[in-house]
Amino acid sequence: MSTSAAPIESSALALLALRCPRCHQGELFLYPATNLTKFTDMPAECPVCGQTYEPEPGFYFGAMYISFGFALAIFLFCGIALYYLANDPESWVYVSTVAIISIALTPLIFRYSRAIMLYLFGGTRYNPQWRARHSH
Ligand SMILES: [Zn+2]
Repeated sequence: MSTSAAPIESSALALLALRCPRCHQGELFLYPATNLTKFTDMPAECPVCGQTYEPEPGFYFGAMYISFGFALAIFLFCGIALYYLANDPESWVYVSTVAIISIALTPLIFRYSRAIMLYLFGGTRYNPQWRARHSH
């Protein structure tokens, strides 16, 4: 095993790095977030440990609510920042700032919503011994 593929111990960091919730090594997404046509593509299962990335059909429906939470956070953050830092500008400034930031962050919001969904509700925990258990 090469050192660069070493698993990340912390689940929070593995989530941030968009790694498999079970082995913390396999990537959750096939392409980088900057690939605007393919940033949503996930493999069916972890390329490292074989953990399925879709525990049941429609599993990621709930990720929509997490995305909504992110959008709300952006909305509030922009609103508060503009109000205090830009001295309450015209309303079009609020609207366009929120729109631009939301669009720019869409790939990240999509991916982290799915990752959070899988980590919280996928029924999978980090298992550094997955190889040993796999061979039973
Ligand atoms: Zn894995």
